[in-house]
Amino acid sequence: MPMAKKKSSKKAVRKSTTKKVAKKSAKKASKKTSKTKARTASAHKKTAKKKTAKKTTKSTTAKQHTSKKRAKKAVRKVARKTTTKKAPAKKAAPKKRVVKGKLVYAFGKKTEGDGSMKTLLGGKGANLAEMTSIGLPVPPGFTITTDTCAAFYQNKKRLPKGLMDEVSKHLTMLEKQRGKKFGNESDPLLVSVRSGAAVSMPGMMDTILNLGLNDKSVKGLAEKTGNVRFAYDAYRRLINMFGDVVMGVGHHHFEDAFTTIKVKYQVTNDTDVPSEGLKELCIAYKEVYAKHVGSKFPQNPLKQLELAINAVFGSWNADKAISYRRIEGMSGLNGTAVNVQTMVFGNMGDDCGTGVAFTRNPSTGDNTFYGEFLINAQGEDVVAGIRTPSPVAEMPKWNNAIFKQLLSIKKTLEDHYSDMQDIEFTIEQGHLFMLQTRTGKRTGAAAVNIACDMVKEKRIDEKTALLRIPAGDLTQLLLPSFDPKAKEANKALATGLPASPGASVGHPAFTAGEAVERALKGEKVILVRKETSPEDVDGMHSAVGILTSTGGMTSHAAVVARGWGKCCVAGAGDVHIDEANGTFSIGGDTFGRGDLISIDGSTGEIFAGSMPTVEPELSGNFSKIMKWSDKYRTMGVRTNADSPKDAARAREFGAQGIGLTRTEHMFFEGERITAMREMILSENVSDRELALAKLLPFQREDFVGIFTAMNGLPVTIRLLDPPLHEFLPHEQEAIQRVANNQGVSVETVRRQVALLHESNPMMGHRGCRLAITYPEILSMQVRAIVEAAIECNKNKIKAIPEIMIPLVGTHQELSILREQTEEVIDLVKKELGFKKKLNIKIGTMIEIPRAALTANEIAEHADFFSFGTNDLTQLAFGYSRDDINTFLPDYIGRDILPEDPFQSLDQTGVGQLVEMGFDKGRATKSDLKIGICGEHGGDPKSVHFCHRTGLDYVSCSPFRVPIARLAAAQAAIMDE
Ligand code: PEP
Ligand code: MG
Repeated sequence: MPMAKKKSSKKAVRKSTTKKVAKKSAKKASKKTSKTKARTASAHKKTAKKKTAKKTTKSTTAKQHTSKKRAKKAVRKVARKTTTKKAPAKKAAPKKRVVKGKLVYAFGKKTEGDGSMKTLLGGKGANLAEMTSIGLPVPPGFTITTDTCAAFYQNKKRLPKGLMDEVSKHLTMLEKQRGKKFGNESDPLLVSVRSGAAVSMPGMMDTILNLGLNDKSVKGLAEKTGNVRFAYDAYRRLINMFGDVVMGVGHHHFEDAFTTIKVKYQVTNDTDVPSEGLKELCIAYKEVYAKHVGSKFPQNPLKQLELAINAVFGSWNADKAISYRRIEGMSGLNGTAVNVQTMVFGNMGDDCGTGVAFTRNPSTGDNTFYGEFLINAQGEDVVAGIRTPSPVAEMPKWNNAIFKQLLSIKKTLEDHYSDMQDIEFTIEQGHLFMLQTRTGKRTGAAAVNIACDMVKEKRIDEKTALLRIPAGDLTQLLLPSFDPKAKEANKALATGLPASPGASVGHPAFTAGEAVERALKGEKVILVRKETSPEDVDGMHSAVGILTSTGGMTSHAAVVARGWGKCCVAGAGDVHIDEANGTFSIGGDTFGRGDLISIDGSTGEIFAGSMPTVEPELSGNFSKIMKWSDKYRTMGVRTNADSPKDAARAREFGAQGIGLTRTEHMFFEGERITAMREMILSENVSDRELALAKLLPFQREDFVGIFTAMNGLPVTIRLLDPPLHEFLPHEQEAIQRVANNQGVSVETVRRQVALLHESNPMMGHRGCRLAITYPEILSMQVRAIVEAAIECNKNKIKAIPEIMIPLVGTHQELSILREQTEEVIDLVKKELGFKKKLNIKIGTMIEIPRAALTANEIAEHADFFSFGTNDLTQLAFGYSRDDINTFLPDYIGRDILPEDPFQSLDQTGVGQLVEMGFDKGRATKSDLKIGICGEHGGDPKSVHFCHRTGLDYVSCSPFRVPIARLAAAQAAIMDE
């Protein structure tokens, strides 16, 4: 009988090719999902618990376990609470809503807030209050709360009643402190109006400066300061910002007017326009304003302020702000606060200036004051890049006293906040003012160095240091990356998914064969494919990077590339490939084999040309962080590795064993694929066994290599998983080649390809189903494992194999295959005269929802479980892991999904299956070892979930091992 019993001939490659959705199954799945959703998590748990209790063994250990389990459940419940999105605020009566409590908090002579009040005052407001309280020179002002913003939205975008009265009262306080009056014609008090949410959203919301000026007070300001140019410069900036930010007049209209003035005065720089020109510019700007707004620029300062507050609140829901929050995964925020602060001027002359700085170097973490400043400029000039600022290190040449004062403020801030700060300052006529401080964003390398240095300086303890480092940012320490300066100078052509980190430069190659050939000749190539399939592995391996136009984060290309630590950008939909002509295009640009491209696997960006890279430095601090992580984590970290090289690398990165060896990856190289195909094309069992016998030595050799690399550590080997059609070619030319190699007719190969065709390969004849149908495959693999273990044993290498049976959905499957596995182990031992114990654990993957639901039954036959959350996610959602990218952007864009569930575990849904599988498995066997080997094992958020669930270990690709170690430590520390 031929190997397979199927059917039509449509191409379908697992993990790579588009598949038709089995409509019936999808319908059933969605019915099931909605039913499941309807139940609450606790009801779900109760049912599960009841049923489990009935069926399972009632040993005392199980009882002990139950109480432990309860405690864990309680922890999980709490944890889930904190990770669940805040429910949207209930809609209140639209009119006359008055916010309870204070609307406005002062800072200055009287300071009402502090640094802990970020939720209410926003990060900027809370820190302005805090800086004032610790005696730093902060221009006085007040903060309108984020609650007021929420009330604004509940009140149909109108300011709540009483707000402007409170604002007026606070203005009076400011007037007293500054000795100037708001709106005064001869010496006006001017203010800035800035947004500031609880979490920093750089550049996403609005700022208006110099507010309070009008046609009369601008003259007063000119007289008072004796600086006409400064006064009119301030006024033109106000009209521009107010028009643009508050009234929505396009900035380019103002720019056009400015250009006309510059042409008239024959200057190119803004700063060279004389005061006369600026006066004319103010008139021109007012005309632009009136033309586009339909009314005159408001002369009443209080009206200006009211409209500006409105605009800042309105900017909270501007498209760019909404997108930013979505991308950053920010939810549950109230809105933005508004900070109204008395203006200080950095542009009144050469004894004035403005700057931004970090208390430590944010790229390297070096403990040096790092930043830039501009003489005679206002804040936005630094940001806008109109003039080139000077490094703060050059400040002493200009004003040494201010530089020293800044250094002392750096110390005060770090002493106070115990963290690196990002500050903004202004110098007005020789006086320094602090306008902002916040925790500084930093690279992964800087995060590690700053955390370690701060422990050394006794500012923080080890646990705080670990919590300060975003685990995912460690990736930057492990792989080469593009020189940040080069990236700044080059605009990305398109952005795909950051599938596997790294930075690659090469010439495009369009087929795997081509990639191999050109790489052999010494060329650096980037494999550019619509998608990749297991047949492409050689080409993928030869390429320096991989770029695909379809496929998600767990597509074949992504998984394989990550496993190898090879740079990969997947699912870049803007890349249109013309394989026949050897070109691809992005927008209007076309690239051929002779062109160079650069791809950034950490960001998904694609660039034209060759960009320089910088090599990673594994500093001593990096290993210190790893040592501390190991000290505090309670969960193990293993790796997913299929070769001795990967295993060795993962071990260097601290892996405590292998959690998944995908044996199918071993069948693709060189001669193995020939033997594999021979096996598949066999017409009967004995032919098949002959072909399998050819594969045996290869498998044994691989296992010996892996056991040796992992000497003394456990190695979980998964038996063959993918459907067999993946090993056969699908294109005419390749079919012909295989027919020639195998000495069979093209027709025979074609027929077998058709027979093995899967309508829905992921649900098809794969995993343990293969072993049930073709027991000889399992026997060969188990034999290879046992022979390798015995060989290692003889060579004094401690091999600890664990045999993992994939895709189990019923306990009968596992029971049958376990029995067969045990028989083969005994047989091989006997054949080789090996008397010692081998202690080979036999377990299964929990990757089918039914396996999770019946985990108590399955556990009867398992020594361990490993959650295959790639398939579990796929089957729980009914989303294909390969094609999800066709609709995922829309789903994320419309808030249907918070993120790619194949990247970060869906804790609400799939998470329940994991918890249930865990609870039911442990209810049967309290000592059941349970881990996870889906791609989620290297995702920090999912690692936290695994810790809370109580898993023994996570397993991830070698390059993510350090990330998982740190994330596991963070989870344990947060759990304390
Ligand atoms: C899984 O499904 O999570 C898994 C690890 O197996 P694979 O990705 O090989 O299907
Ligand atoms: Mg799987």
